[in-house]
Amino acid sequence: MTAATTVTVRVPAKVNLQLAVGPAREDGYHELVNVFHAVSLYDEVTVRRPDSAARVSGISLSGATGSDVPQDSTNLAARAAELLAHRIGYRGGVDLGDLVDLRIHKAIPVAGGMAGGSADAAAALLACATLWNTGHTVSELAPLAAELGSDVPFALMGHTAVGRSRGEQLTPLTCTVTLHWVFALAHGGLSTAEVYRAYDRIRPQAPEPELSHALTRALEAGDAAAVGQALHNDLQPAALDLRPELARTLQAGADAGALGGIVSGSGPTCAFLARDGEHARELAAELEWSGTCLRTVCAHGPVPGATRTQG
Ligand code: ATP
Repeated sequence: MTAATTVTVRVPAKVNLQLAVGPAREDGYHELVNVFHAVSLYDEVTVRRPDSAARVSGISLSGATGSDVPQDSTNLAARAAELLAHRIGYRGGVDLGDLVDLRIHKAIPVAGGMAGGSADAAAALLACATLWNTGHTVSELAPLAAELGSDVPFALMGHTAVGRSRGEQLTPLTCTVTLHWVFALAHGGLSTAEVYRAYDRIRPQAPEPELSHALTRALEAGDAAAVGQALHNDLQPAALDLRPELARTLQAGADAGALGGIVSGSGPTCAFLARDGEHARELAAELEWSGTCLRTVCAHGPVPGATRTQG
């Protein structure tokens, strides 16, 4: 069998069904109970052995990237490729361009609270492990993923899971229903660090975070209406403090009959739960008509994490 020269990995966005944020720790991170849920909105990362005759410089981007995604070694996918190369002692070269030619097609909104950068890092880890035939299983890649960022291990794992500590210590959760979502995208992004700073200002004495049993029961029972009721994000007041206009988006979703609505992660994307696929399309149309968002995207979950589609 000849080794693949091109590998493509598809990787989902996440929405947080519960994000409980505890006090800031000494290392600067917050103690979290973070219920991740992977949805069918995907970035695609393709890695290729560099072709010295027609060398492109490291990273090319396509899709909904905006101007905010770095095209140098600070891109999280590039950092993932470099970390794996370093760990296995790969001798392909010293620069990213010598290691791998990296292409990222983005559909996950940038700086939208849906962990797009983390998703690309997870995809790059899996794609490079395949390209370089390192023999790593997905669970063996998880510790490297956690070094790259708190949300990266979940992007490898997918489905629904609770992340503790800073979100990287994952335990799968049972979800017996397909949940249909509408994501209301906003103009511009929000910096996660800035949202956490606002959180610390608004809530200086945060209690220890606890998993919502109303949520886990609703997921196990497959009761979408109860999931909608149990959605909760401690970062929402901070995101609203920085972007007060998101309150109008949330209200528009509630008025349109969503089963529940929250700011996704650190925002500014808002997530609305629908009864089924048709209800999601209706909600999306109402939200667009309300003029309170840039555009909408429908997706469902849970879906698997990073998955190889070529190579
Ligand atoms: P977080 O996971 O921190 O909550 P987010 O989901 O809100 O973040 P991302 O799309 O991951 O947002 O982007 C956050 C920042 O990371 C961007 O503004 C960008 O500068 C940087 N970044 C680095 N690599 C990538 C990448 N591959 N895709 C998107 N952004 C990236």
